[in-house]
Amino acid sequence: MKIWNLQKSNQTTFRYPKDYPTKYIALVRAKFAVKKILRWVRVQKLSTMMLGGQYHTSHELIEIDITYQCNLKCNNCNRSSAQAPDNTHINLSQIVNFVEQSLQRKTPWKRIRILGGEPTLHPEFQSIIEQLLVLKTHHPDTVIELVTNGYGRKVNAALENLPEGIWVENSYKTGNVQPSFGPFNMAPQDSVLYKFADYSNGCDIASSCGMGLTPQGYYPCAVAGGIDRVLGLHRGRQSLPSPSDEMRDLMDIACRLCGRFYDGHYVPEKLRPSLEVQKNSRSWDKHYQDWAKRRIDIQ
Ligand code: SF4
Ligand code: SF4
Repeated sequence: MKIWNLQKSNQTTFRYPKDYPTKYIALVRAKFAVKKILRWVRVQKLSTMMLGGQYHTSHELIEIDITYQCNLKCNNCNRSSAQAPDNTHINLSQIVNFVEQSLQRKTPWKRIRILGGEPTLHPEFQSIIEQLLVLKTHHPDTVIELVTNGYGRKVNAALENLPEGIWVENSYKTGNVQPSFGPFNMAPQDSVLYKFADYSNGCDIASSCGMGLTPQGYYPCAVAGGIDRVLGLHRGRQSLPSPSDEMRDLMDIACRLCGRFYDGHYVPEKLRPSLEVQKNSRSWDKHYQDWAKRRIDIQ
């Protein structure tokens, strides 16, 4: 069982395993097989026309990808930090604007997660943390959480120096093979079974993790921002989207390429096939080739 450590900086360590006991696994497997079929039916164009989009982007939760740089290059990274590596960082001014616009909103954030890439490698990591803590002084109940791979001396030195008030989710990665990852680069648009899918349905990441802020702007989820980076479209919203903006146009672009779209919901690790190697469907082979070519062109 995979156990995530969640610790408040300089304070107690908490552990919360979320999985099912092995003795119920057959039952759980059957339940998730049914859920998968229901999901497929739900995302078809006809169902979507009748019922609307299945998942809604949370405007109370946000994930901020502050950099795509990473000191690990994991297979199937859903930010493409391994497949299309670069050192694109968010500008500090974007964080300052985010803080200002957040303070103007009526509703405070329930949770702000700081991710990447490996977020501690951002050259202005400390200043970003200081800016985000300004929000906490106005809204003490806002949880600010740093998601790190916990790998290497530089990363751990940054973790040691975190100020009070930042929670840490440390995955303690030790290498680039992550068997529990989903096949992010298996694009549903490459499957004949999804020919009539409506990709603006999104998935539960948009609801349970919230919208994304990335160097390219705001998206219905941070994964969508990472996809837009590889596509080079720069479609992200440039200021904090209003609660009425569901960003379904951005889901339509990103979700057709995202392997997470298939199930649409959380799948327990015991039910996931072990993924040892990088897997790309044909759309992703092409997008990564195009990305590499664009990089050469601008150098
Ligand atoms: S540590 Fe995270 S961000 Fe870095 S390559 Fe692995 S999955 Fe991607
Ligand atoms: S399918 Fe992928 S891109 Fe679409 S909402 Fe889910 S995680 Fe984001």
